[in-house]
Amino acid sequence: MMGKSHLIIGTGVTLSAMSLLGYPITIPAAAVAALSSLLPDIDEPNSLLVRKALPEPLLRLLQVALIAGAIYLYLAQIAAPPWNLVLALLVGSVSFLPGRKLRHLVMVLIAVGLFAFAQVYDPWNAIAACILIIAVVVPHRGLTHTLYALGGWTALLYFAAEGMKNGGSLWIAGGMAYALHLAADALTRRGITPLPPLPLKLRLKLMSTGTKHGDKVERVFVVLALALVVYTFVLVPFQG
Ligand SMILES: [Zn+2]
Repeated sequence: MMGKSHLIIGTGVTLSAMSLLGYPITIPAAAVAALSSLLPDIDEPNSLLVRKALPEPLLRLLQVALIAGAIYLYLAQIAAPPWNLVLALLVGSVSFLPGRKLRHLVMVLIAVGLFAFAQVYDPWNAIAACILIIAVVVPHRGLTHTLYALGGWTALLYFAAEGMKNGGSLWIAGGMAYALHLAADALTRRGITPLPPLPLKLRLKLMSTGTKHGDKVERVFVVLALALVVYTFVLVPFQG
């Protein structure tokens, strides 16, 4: 399934379900849901998370945002000089690096920097650093599409957000969106293997990504997710 569909289905259904169940929808919860809906595809070969999920103009926007972030890191002097400059250069350059290995090295260095210097932003520095490390060390496609990864990501959010105001809904938002990604992939011909090394395979073969029929089925699920969002956030408040 395409990143765009995962983003709409995972985020839309998660936020609708949380709202219907009475959980507060905060901006961090929405951000975590959106991120978690895309996170399992982080280990797709030769595709940075964003490249698959985002159209070209949005990728440019992300590069601009990273450069802005780099300038901020430098000026705010979160780390003592010269480390603020080092961190800024790493963040500013990461989305432009050509080689996979080089990019991975820079991502690890940024993660180390976030752990070491950015405690002001706890728990977000830890969450961001963990994502960077996971993106680098996950060996090949498959591991992120398991129940182990779902459990690990949910637990990470649970402990990272402990003690935060309204932080209790973060692990629900992230866990649900991640689970929806796996469920959506289980509909495809490729399927998922949720509990390796058990040979159990989940695939409903409703669609295969990239074919005309597959695209149609995918669009149906996207429309259903959007309908749920409209119902939850437009019709329900209107009635109440
Ligand atoms: Zn996937």
